[in-house]
Amino acid sequence: MFLEPFFRGQRSGWIEVICGSMFSGKTEELLRRLKRAKFANQKVEIYKPRVDTRYDNVKVVSHDDNFILATPIDHSAKILKVGGDVTVVGIDEAQFFDQDLIQNVQKLALSGKRVIVAGLDMDFRGLPFGPIPGLLAVAEYITKVHAICSHCGNLATHSYRLSSEDSTVVLGEKDKYEPRCRSCYNMGNILDLK
Ligand code: ZN
Repeated sequence: MFLEPFFRGQRSGWIEVICGSMFSGKTEELLRRLKRAKFANQKVEIYKPRVDTRYDNVKVVSHDDNFILATPIDHSAKILKVGGDVTVVGIDEAQFFDQDLIQNVQKLALSGKRVIVAGLDMDFRGLPFGPIPGLLAVAEYITKVHAICSHCGNLATHSYRLSSEDSTVVLGEKDKYEPRCRSCYNMGNILDLK
């Protein structure tokens, strides 16, 4: 039988998800929340998948060079080893983690921790990305952030891949992707020819 954490004498934890396209400020928002917790003297731990080595092995870096030290891990189960004195757990680039992240994040929340997950909700094909859709289903709080469409200036929800590589995981920045609204995304490379 499922028992509310309250009845087991524990502080209640919860799950927050920050999602959106590339260049939408997900990591900036994650760092803002984590820094605010640190100002309140709460102990914070941050994890990221080992696959994401675009900038640095140990720092979570946003596009504006804001950063907090993070631990790269190769499987989501490693987040369960977080210290008992840690009250806030941040997870960046969560779309690259295994599906077990969904249950592991719930275990952490049930143990009384605030868990903040940031990640891409859609891949470059416009399909739900990795464990993010499952996390959205189980989270208490969801924030969808938007970029600005490179072509029309509307809010962008999609990450358009400028190269023709097929792999879902192609790391890169402005040379490989651009944010687009639904309509401009749907026009595909017709826009490139203009
Ligand atoms: Zn557009």
